[in-house]
Amino acid sequence: MRSVETLVGGEWVAAGSGEWIDVQNPADLRTPAFRVPALAPDEVTRAYDHAERGFAGWRRTNPLARAAVLTGASALLRERAGAIAEDIATENGKTRAEAHGETLKAADFLEYYALLVGRGGYGTLLNDVRPDTRTSAQQEPIGVVLAVTPWNDPLITPARKLAPALAAGNAVVLKPAGETPVSGLHLARALHDAGLPAGVLGVVTGRTARIGSALLGDARIAAVTFTGSNEVGDRLRTEFAARNIRFQGELGGKNASVVLADADLPKAARTVAAASFGQAGQRCTATSRVVVERSVAEEFTRLLLAEVARIEPGAPLAAGTGMGPLASPRHRDGVLGHIEGAVKRGATVLAGGDVPADGDLAHGCYVRPTVLGDVTADFAVWREEVFGPVVALCAVDSFEEAVAAVNDSGFGLAAAVFTQDLTAAHRFADEAECGQIAVNLTTPGWDVHHPFGGFHASGSPFKEQGTEALHFYTRVKTVAIHYGA
Ligand code: NAD
Repeated sequence: MRSVETLVGGEWVAAGSGEWIDVQNPADLRTPAFRVPALAPDEVTRAYDHAERGFAGWRRTNPLARAAVLTGASALLRERAGAIAEDIATENGKTRAEAHGETLKAADFLEYYALLVGRGGYGTLLNDVRPDTRTSAQQEPIGVVLAVTPWNDPLITPARKLAPALAAGNAVVLKPAGETPVSGLHLARALHDAGLPAGVLGVVTGRTARIGSALLGDARIAAVTFTGSNEVGDRLRTEFAARNIRFQGELGGKNASVVLADADLPKAARTVAAASFGQAGQRCTATSRVVVERSVAEEFTRLLLAEVARIEPGAPLAAGTGMGPLASPRHRDGVLGHIEGAVKRGATVLAGGDVPADGDLAHGCYVRPTVLGDVTADFAVWREEVFGPVVALCAVDSFEEAVAAVNDSGFGLAAAVFTQDLTAAHRFADEAECGQIAVNLTTPGWDVHHPFGGFHASGSPFKEQGTEALHFYTRVKTVAIHYGA
């Protein structure tokens, strides 16, 4: 087991109490893989003390100098990608290839916002009815940002938040998920090694039940960016609204892929399999519902099952593994519970539905890729987020019925349509009530410069990624200067 210290006030520290929290390897639960400090509430408050001081200097640092730190950190992530990917795969369970891709994309986030902020402007000049008056709107950082992140993309999610927040001149307190704190600490180390001044970033590892009040209650929090479950996100949204603190929430999804009768069916099957079972379905944008036009339902199902049969669950770091384990025993049990519930209601298991028989995998949180048929819209597995390698199929009779099925959900994160008909593609893009729309593409997989975020219960008014993200991390000040006599 490796001990990984956390970053507070520019120092790598253990908890003052000497207490640690074990981090499991979901591929083999017998021995913990890492341990991280279990900070106490007063140590969390200290992270805010440092962040407050760090912000005072960082906001005045020239944006080009801030950009240089981010660019340096990006280069370090690329240089260290092999080792970082191993740690991501070890604490999260995704495959080495997935973890490597995640590391490079985290580097892209840093590089993108370094360019955007370093080489861009910070406001606009405006006309003014008053003569000899120059008026401008300038964007300023907002202060200390609390970033709370989940376990499923343990490096990208912090990078997606920290890159725009820091580039814009804010300080950040990062609270990574308890299951996967080591990935976020790699990001912190890259930023620290690239010269991020002390205090501008603090990483708080600890037990949420113990440090929750110190973490959420600090009066110096200017904004909260949260990615995670609706259960926690909705609670935080209400709490911070009452304190007039801006809140960005990236929450759950129940993403549908629609296969129309004219689609290229082999391509649709290949793409849906990737969208549903990449990262063992543990992506907020993963396809978990497939709505297929009845005339091609049988053929599409046959092709999809052939694709699924090729996905081999295995150890994350082993060569040739197609899908790793789920992130924790609790999560695996929840996913198996969803499958069991669907079967009890009459769903047919067309593939998977159970844990692999392979003895080598017996100590990990594995679930075989699962396809369920005979599911209707009132099944929990059709309505609730499963967040695992489970996809349910439902046949419809028309484009209109398909769009209605997509929109018959409290969520609104991502949706895809497979068709060769331009009109159907454009109508789908206009009518689907989701923040991310894909045509003949996977529901996940958006570049760093693509605005990202869900509608309805999946999100909040602030998008992440691209130039949109900077709206959340900045405030606008309007300045009028009269220079006449
Ligand atoms: P979670 O809500 O359980 O935890 C998210 C984070 O909140 C973790 O860091 C956790 O420790 C912290 N947390 C939990 N309770 C807290 C409390 N009382 N006070 C302060 N912090 C608290 O979510 P999870 O299980 O880690 O992640 C899976 C969820 O994340 C899924 O619902 C998934 O859809 C969602 N997600 C959404 C997106 C998106 O962009 N929409 C992306 C990835 C994941």
